[in-house]
Amino acid sequence: MDIIFQVSMGVLLNLIIGGFAMQRRSLTYPSGFFAAAVVGFTIYLASPLGWLSLMIFFVSSTILTKFKSSDPHKTEVYTFAAKGGERDGFQVFANGGSSFIFAIFLIISKGLFSYSFTSALLLALITSIAASTADTWSTEIGSLSKSEPVSILNPRKKVLRGESGGVTILGFFGAFLGSSIIALSYLLITFNWTQAFYIVSFGFLGSIIDSILGIIAQVQYYCPTCEKYTEQSPHSRCGTILKASKGIPFVNNDVVNFLASFLSGLMVYILILLL
Ligand SMILES: [Zn+2]
Repeated sequence: MDIIFQVSMGVLLNLIIGGFAMQRRSLTYPSGFFAAAVVGFTIYLASPLGWLSLMIFFVSSTILTKFKSSDPHKTEVYTFAAKGGERDGFQVFANGGSSFIFAIFLIISKGLFSYSFTSALLLALITSIAASTADTWSTEIGSLSKSEPVSILNPRKKVLRGESGGVTILGFFGAFLGSSIIALSYLLITFNWTQAFYIVSFGFLGSIIDSILGIIAQVQYYCPTCEKYTEQSPHSRCGTILKASKGIPFVNNDVVNFLASFLSGLMVYILILLL
């Protein structure tokens, strides 16, 4: 296809999706909007198939975030956790940054608009998107769970709703569905069962890594004003800027999300090279 036509299509498609995101209030302006435009357009230039996966992640997450958003359990999760609602530039890079990096390497090694479905880098890119989808879906679906979450490292230890590292059966189900939808869309286009299996397994594994990192490394605060633990600073309920009470100070939810999706993509990349 003519390169000018492809680039124009990329601009047009990204603008339509960007407009949808702004209308649904899923991105802040300007940082969230421009970060999403850079990530979306770069991935489109690298591989339209990778871009399709990114859009399935983005549109489904936007819809799921609004789904039953007034459910009391879900509200409880959002007042505790550092996520939900409008995504700013940092949150866009937390979820799309690793696929952005794989996209840059894909452009360097294969040029623009790669339609090669055999590239390990493309599989790494799509797997990192599957991991982000699994993590977002597990949060959105898991937050509706009626049973209390437990620590992923100790099933007998109850944790607060929304606390990183907390898991529920419904959350695991959400993570599996999330990575499956990315793998299924890949399968329908490539008919490659083996690679689709890698995407679903390593995408799911990414959400497990996310939970484990969330427990061992992610920063947590105590708000003396509200007398509540939280992963937000400033605290969304009262606006107080808080000091870390647990975890590594700069390792917030964005850093954990980025690492988990990057590691799942990297593992698939290494696996393909070894096989
Ligand atoms: Zn507070």
